[in-house]
Amino acid sequence: MDNCIFCKIIKGEIPSYTIYEDSKMKAFLDVNPNSNGHVLVVPKEHVRTIFEIDPILLKDMISTINEKIYPLLKERLSIEGLTIIQNNLLGQEVPHFHIHLIPRYQEDGIKTIFDKSKIKDVKEIYEKLK
Ligand code: 5GP
Ligand code: ZN
Repeated sequence: MDNCIFCKIIKGEIPSYTIYEDSKMKAFLDVNPNSNGHVLVVPKEHVRTIFEIDPILLKDMISTINEKIYPLLKERLSIEGLTIIQNNLLGQEVPHFHIHLIPRYQEDGIKTIFDKSKIKDVKEIYEKLK
């Protein structure tokens, strides 16, 4: 898609520190990382959100994270945990689907990824959802 920064990275028009690539996806270092080894995993096909991505492709991406990228991070960076985040629409800076892999380390100073909301009436929400 024209003007999509991740499509340009996929095409090689913008440089990236790519750590994994195959015919369906690419994984590269986030330019503004939350921790050492923060990786973005993106499908080569441009879709914006999880609501549009082919579920088989999503499954392949998860398998690749589990079987290839996580072992690489663990072996080379000695990561001790992995926080996975995926934003859709609101809170999504880049409108090309991507999975954030945020390595965790003892003493990394990351207390929580998300601020807790002030909404405490969980039962009221449950009444709307059940
Ligand atoms: P979002 O808020 O869309 O979930 O996250 C977008 C992420 O993309 C951010 O963490 C940001 O640092 C990263 N990012 C934005 N532009 C570039 C870029 O040109 N190259 C790389 N490697 N990462 C980018
Ligand atoms: Zn794109």
